[in-house]
Amino acid sequence: MPFSYVSHLTCPKCKRTYSVRKKQQLCFCGSPLLVEYQLEELKKNLSPTDIGEREPSLWRYHELLPIKSADHIVSLGEGMTPLIPTPKLGRNLSIPNLYIKDEGTIPTGSFKARGAAVGISKAKELGIRELAMPTNGNAGAAWALYAARADMKATIVLPVDAPTITRAECSISGAKLHLIHGRISDAGKIVAQMVAEKGIYDVSTLKEPYRIEGKKTMGIEIAEQFNWKLPDVILYPTGGGVGLIGIYKSFKELQNLGWIQGRLPRLVAVQSTGCAPIVKAWKEKKNSSEFCTNSTTVAFGINVPKALGDFLVLEAIYQTDGCAVAVDDDMMLQEQKRVASLEGLFICPEGAATIAAARVLRENGWIQEQETVVALNTGLGLKYPNTVQIDTPVLLED
Ligand SMILES: *Cc1c(COP(=O)(O)O)cnc(C)c1O
Ligand SMILES: [Zn+2]
Repeated sequence: MPFSYVSHLTCPKCKRTYSVRKKQQLCFCGSPLLVEYQLEELKKNLSPTDIGEREPSLWRYHELLPIKSADHIVSLGEGMTPLIPTPKLGRNLSIPNLYIKDEGTIPTGSFKARGAAVGISKAKELGIRELAMPTNGNAGAAWALYAARADMKATIVLPVDAPTITRAECSISGAKLHLIHGRISDAGKIVAQMVAEKGIYDVSTLKEPYRIEGKKTMGIEIAEQFNWKLPDVILYPTGGGVGLIGIYKSFKELQNLGWIQGRLPRLVAVQSTGCAPIVKAWKEKKNSSEFCTNSTTVAFGINVPKALGDFLVLEAIYQTDGCAVAVDDDMMLQEQKRVASLEGLFICPEGAATIAAARVLRENGWIQEQETVVALNTGLGLKYPNTVQIDTPVLLED
């Protein structure tokens, strides 16, 4: 049996196809490329019960990942994060069946490790030795650390305002780090220039096709953790939207395999009011977003003024009868505190945004009380110590 059932790459816009045996970036038409698998073949050879016995990492789904040989896997044990019932928080929100899928427990401290593990492994399989990327912090940290493990050179371009710890992660891994005054979109322009001059592999969000394959494993895990019966709603903090696109893609694949039945979960893209291009586009029923100027939010991972894959995010929302919601930083930080004090989970501001959005959607009736809801916590609260107001302790004299 093949290790992977990967077939080829397809452009979701113009339908051109490309080989997975060569380095690929965007389609000729400028669109990101998506990975296709031989699902009809796989369906005959694999069932969900076969997977149950495997090691608890995202590599348990290797048939649905693009790496052809196990020898090329670069892993730090990523994946199979806990799906944590949060009954006290759920009662507070009037959503008793609320779960948090906690990506804070993953290597490098954010779910970006999933994309990095699969992206770097595939880059290794393709013989790539050097890469560059713009980042808001967590992706750069993850790719820098996985690149180190794979003996690859990494150049990371990062806004100076990004969480300091992510800068430390890039630096300690030995990556070449450039700090800029500006946003991830400005960092992206610098990387594009570097890549054009030096022919380095550009691993910017969706400019290589494999990061999304790593992130889609969140969707497969959710399905498996619910015993292949999906929840009603999934809330995702959306920047570039790779996770949301990936989760939707994984559900389509699982449907084609016959491993899941019925309606898909309604996917919710959660953004900050300080940067909400997807929410605006969704409200206007558009299929792509406009650049958001002067964007700002404490939830750094979702400060993305214009996502290359915006049309794919919007498609995933429309196709699942989902929606898009913006919440402000105060709401996020309040929920962050509530989640820690009620459930003991120190989630990141991006993760807290999904809880704030769940509250809004429950209050306006979009989420019903009996529905099963999964909120994704995409990273560790410990990575953002400055967002927490520490109550001053009172010292008692004796
Ligand atoms: C990058 C990031 C996001 C957004 O992820 P996308 O898939 O690009 O939308 C959310 N939360 C955290 C903590 C992040 O680092
Ligand atoms: Zn195309």
